[in-house]
Amino acid sequence: MSSGSIDTSLSSVVDTFGRPLGSLRLSVTDRCNLRCRYCMPEPEYIWLPREDILSLEEMATLARYFADLGVDKIRLTGGEPLLRRDLARLVRLLRQDRRITEVALTTNGILFADCAQALYEAGLDRVTISLDTLRPERFRQLTGRDEFSRVLEGIESVGKTGFTNFKLDTVAIRGFNEDELGALIEFAKHCQAEVRFIEYMDVGGANEWSLDKVLSQDMILDLLSRRYGRITPLPGRGAAPAQRFRLPDGAIFGIIPSTTAPFCSHCDRSRLTADGLWYLCLYAGSGVDLRKPLRMNEHPDHMREIIRSGWAARRDRGAEERKALERVGLRDGGLIEIDRLREDPHLEMHARGG
Ligand code: SAM
Ligand code: SF4
Ligand code: SF4
Repeated sequence: MSSGSIDTSLSSVVDTFGRPLGSLRLSVTDRCNLRCRYCMPEPEYIWLPREDILSLEEMATLARYFADLGVDKIRLTGGEPLLRRDLARLVRLLRQDRRITEVALTTNGILFADCAQALYEAGLDRVTISLDTLRPERFRQLTGRDEFSRVLEGIESVGKTGFTNFKLDTVAIRGFNEDELGALIEFAKHCQAEVRFIEYMDVGGANEWSLDKVLSQDMILDLLSRRYGRITPLPGRGAAPAQRFRLPDGAIFGIIPSTTAPFCSHCDRSRLTADGLWYLCLYAGSGVDLRKPLRMNEHPDHMREIIRSGWAARRDRGAEERKALERVGLRDGGLIEIDRLREDPHLEMHARGG
C-alpha cells in the first residue's frame, strides 16, 4: 500500500493462514549470564552493537503500535532479560497501555530475587523461570556456571513477593534430564508452580541438537505414567503452546511439543529483538527492521502499516517445515552452520528470544 493510501484503522490483523497478531516476545537484551549448552554453547558471541539496542522508551513505543494492531500479551525475554537495567520501568511503561492485558517475564532466575519486588510493584503479571535440573553439579555442566543456589533463591522469591501464575520451564533432553521429570513435578508442586516440559528445538546455536536428543511428548508421558499412573489431557490448547495434563493427584503440568507436534497452525506470536528487528517466526531467516523507521521518526500510521502489512503477508510455520524434513531424512543436525551464526547474531535463539 502506498503512503498516500495508508489504512489508519486501528484493528486486528490476520496472516495468510488466518492467524491473528496476538502476542509479542520482546527480547530486551542479547546478553546472558549463563551458557546453556542447548542455547548458547559458545563462550563468546558477536553481540548486537550497543548503539543499536532500543531504549526502554523506544520498546514501549513499538509495543503501542503492536497493541494498535491487536497485540494484548507481551513476554519479556532475551538473552537474560534481568541483565537489562531498570526492567521494572519498562514493565510500568507497558502497563500504562490498557490494551496490553498481560506482561510476562521468562528468566533464568539468577537475578530475580533482587528485583522481584520492583517488578511486582511495576505490574508484572506472570513469571516463568527456566529450570532444567535440580542437581547443582548437573546445572553447572549444562550452563557452565555455578549459579544453582541463586536460581533457587529466585524461585523462592516468586511466591514470597505475591506473584501467582508461576511456571517453571524445563527443556527435556534425552540422555540428560529424563531421570528428573518426576522430581521436577514434585518440586513445582512444592513451589506452587506449574512445570512445562519443552521439547528440545533445533534453533540457532543449538548446534548439539540432534533428533535422538529430543525427549518427545510421547516419551515424557510414558515416563511419567510409569511413576504416576493415568495421565489425563486437559482440553483447550488454543493459541497456547503447551498441552496441559492432570495427574491422578490433581497436579497439572504442561508439555510444549514444539518439535514433534508443533502448534504453528495456531501461532499468534512474533518476536522483536533488542535492536528492533521483528521476526514473524522463531525459525525465520530474516526480520523486518523497525528500528530504522522508528529512529527516523516515521509517522505512526506508517509504522503501523509496516507491521500490518508484514503480518498480513505472513506464511511462516517454521517448526512444521522442520518436521516435514524429518520424513525425507534431512533433519539430522543443527539448523544453521556455526559460521553463518557468527555472521548474523540475529539467527541465535538468545538474540530473538526463546
Ligand atoms: N534467559 C531466559 C531463560 O533462560 O529463561 C530467557 C531467554 S531463553 C532463550 C527462553 C527459553 O528458551 C528458556 O526457557 C530456554 O530454556 C528455552 N530454550 C533455549 N534454547 C532452547 C532449545 N534449543 N530448545 C528448547 N528450548 C530452548
Ligand atoms: Fe540459558 Fe536463557 Fe541464557 Fe539461553 S538465554 S543461555 S536459555 S539462560
Ligand atoms: Fe510459531 Fe514459527 Fe514457532 Fe511455528 S515455528 S509455532 S510459526 S514461531
